[in-house]
Amino acid sequence: MRLVGKVALISGGARGMGAAEARMFAREGAQVVIGDVLEAEGRAAEADIKAKGGEAVFVRLDVTSEADWQKAVGLAQSRFGKLNVLVNNAGIGGGSRIEDTTVEDWNRMMDINAKGVFLGTKAVIPAMRRAGGGSIVNISSQLGLVGTDNSSPQYQASKGAVRLLTKATAIQYAREGIRANSVHPGPIVTAMTERRRADPAQRQLMISRIPLGRYGEPDEVAYGVLYLASDEAAFVTGSELVIDGGWTAQ
Ligand code: NAD
Repeated sequence: MRLVGKVALISGGARGMGAAEARMFAREGAQVVIGDVLEAEGRAAEADIKAKGGEAVFVRLDVTSEADWQKAVGLAQSRFGKLNVLVNNAGIGGGSRIEDTTVEDWNRMMDINAKGVFLGTKAVIPAMRRAGGGSIVNISSQLGLVGTDNSSPQYQASKGAVRLLTKATAIQYAREGIRANSVHPGPIVTAMTERRRADPAQRQLMISRIPLGRYGEPDEVAYGVLYLASDEAAFVTGSELVIDGGWTAQ
């Protein structure tokens, strides 16, 4: 098992890739705190892990709230004694072209996708320092690396922000043994892509842009996150792990 003795907090862990990471981390021996705004799904994810013999606890966490982050980090420490890993996974998608985007649309997505990562990082640093180091894994996107014509300006701006916030974190905290890396998934089978996958023309367009010719599965991203969270990646910080079926290789 690759995460024995580690306590991990995963934002947006109630469903999708976050839930896949929570299950995989628990199977690999971690004690997992699942933070999300979706309470029913979050509690179900907790119950599922416990039913399989793992250790997990759900906490209501809105990543835009500094107070919620304090509560989540506090719970990790009171329940499991420390915090070693943070996966900043929570995020929202969607949106339209620049001229059709309101300031409210822009602010909402930047708040969740970019400010949420900043607040999570800020909240865990003291706990990781006390633990003697830690690993922060930030979920960006292939659209944090390259532009596209069918995503929104605020989604791409937010994911680009995550990419460089990760490097700033990596450099500022390297000497304290706190690592930070970004992960850049391509299109993955989750609720976020459900509408597009259900539309045959949109689905075909997306698949035509993926050299491997299919959407990825949540576990295919979780395996990469697991590596970065574990001590196997002890010399890896400030890096970008691209898991996109070849999208950005073209
Ligand atoms: P998803 O919608 O299934 O999961 C996102 C989770 O984040 C949900 O559980 C949701 O409740 C939670 N969340 C949203 N706002 C929140 C908030 N304010 N506070 C706390 N939790 C909140 O989607 P997913 O595909 O699993 O997305 C996970 C991450 O991966 C996101 O950051 C997304 O941008 C990124 N991503 C997804 C894809 C894809 O194709 N699915 C590709 C690249 C990157």
